[in-house]
Amino acid sequence: MPPSLNRRAALARLSQLASACALQQLFGTGAQAQPRAAVQPGPQMPFTLGVASGEPREDSVVLWTRLAPQPLQPGGGLPPQPVAVRWQVAADEGFARIVREGEALALPEHAHTVHVEVAGLQPARVYHYRFLAGGHASATGRTRTAPPAFAPVQRLRVALASCQHYEQGHYGVHREIAARDADLVLFTGDYIYENESKPHLRVRPHLTPTPHDLDGFRLRYASYKLDPALQLLHATHPWLLTWDDHEVENDYTGTHSSWGTDAAAFLRIRTAAFKAYYENMPLSPRRLPAGNVMRLHDLFSWGRLADIWMVDTRQFRDPHACDDGEGGRGLWRCDELANPARSMLGRAQEDWLAGGLASSLATWKLVTQSQQISAYGIPVPFARPGGRIVHNDGWDGYPFARERLLRAIHEPRVKDVICLGGDAHRHLAAPLRLKPNDPLSPIVASEFIGSSMTSSGLKNPLCALMRWTNPDLMHMRGDERGYAWLDITPGQVRCELRATAHPVTERAALYTQAAFVVEAGRAGPQRA
Ligand code: FE
Ligand code: CA
Repeated sequence: MPPSLNRRAALARLSQLASACALQQLFGTGAQAQPRAAVQPGPQMPFTLGVASGEPREDSVVLWTRLAPQPLQPGGGLPPQPVAVRWQVAADEGFARIVREGEALALPEHAHTVHVEVAGLQPARVYHYRFLAGGHASATGRTRTAPPAFAPVQRLRVALASCQHYEQGHYGVHREIAARDADLVLFTGDYIYENESKPHLRVRPHLTPTPHDLDGFRLRYASYKLDPALQLLHATHPWLLTWDDHEVENDYTGTHSSWGTDAAAFLRIRTAAFKAYYENMPLSPRRLPAGNVMRLHDLFSWGRLADIWMVDTRQFRDPHACDDGEGGRGLWRCDELANPARSMLGRAQEDWLAGGLASSLATWKLVTQSQQISAYGIPVPFARPGGRIVHNDGWDGYPFARERLLRAIHEPRVKDVICLGGDAHRHLAAPLRLKPNDPLSPIVASEFIGSSMTSSGLKNPLCALMRWTNPDLMHMRGDERGYAWLDITPGQVRCELRATAHPVTERAALYTQAAFVVEAGRAGPQRA
């Protein structure tokens, strides 16, 4: 037998093992783990929602699809039975050189979604992938693996994006990112919006009703994923994801609704929302939620060049200070802000991040989370504590948690930390000082936010007032949509804030609103 055939047989055996492991994960190991007979998906095209990849490691990547011939019907138009799906990973676009393949079961209890963590891949390679079922083939996706651990990598190109309210714009920003040679898309939350837009901001309506249960959230994801530009962006680059509030409920905090929803009802919503999020994102099967808990935060690496922490600011946080059941708002008299015990990440995640930062050997440390860390409160006489009105939902509403995060960088002298955020719907560049806006306080890190992909932002006069009263805000504009493009090399990080007018059109043209560099060894952005 020629050696290539031997290798083929070994590969086939390996992929059998890989899919056997995946099956074990899907079915669990309990007494109810009885595989059921798989059915064919039927004559209608089942791959209506595209393909996606994520969580690239040096030897693996996660592939995703969902079978739903009628995606806006509950159940996706499939009977409640498992469907066998073949997956293939190839070194070439034409699938002449298949390097891994196997079979997965799309289960009705997971909305016929498929999450395959393909192992045994080569580092720093581009791969092509697709799914096959019942004589149908999915779109072909393109992905890549991370470089080997500690390899001297020269470059990492990242698109930082967030906040894609379907009703408030078309996905023209997505098309520009898909056309660029990105290694990764970092998505920092508000993938769906559970709530409806104010009528004057609506350029196209949500296609499904406001979600309150698992079927409702599944339908909302399906309606977003029907957008061809979003499908294109998933099929072109691997994504790393974290979430913000709108994947569950606007301004929620931990197990607490900010709108007075009772605790048991809110937990049911959170459980349904977490499940639908897992089902619809290119996430490892290890992240399948257990009830209303899901481990999303994790560390990824790009050789020796960068460590990338994906941080969860929602699931474990304490309630808003002075919560009144009316959602996020400005606080001007709230002594609870001075309680140092309140946490944005939960103490376990705080410790995990601090420990990781202190021991990282990477040149650049990217802390990727869903909020604005720099301060943007507005001075008001008699406001307390601190003499400013502050937004209760952002890091300004958790000032001691922010200080702990910045001390975890400053005290062990962790250099070259870049904080990447979302939620704010504005382009932003800022130095992060231990004491915000104090020119005598040391700059410990640099912060960028890439506006929002579609969601509307603050008007310019309010942004100007915030900039004027918060000298750390080097750049902040809420009138335009877009993303941030980060070109990371050992010597510097260059950040271009790419922008287009609001609301975004399908074929929007973007321009560079502002550009910054951060030099290695010198914290804080400088104008490029
Ligand atoms: Fe948002
Ligand atoms: Ca948000």
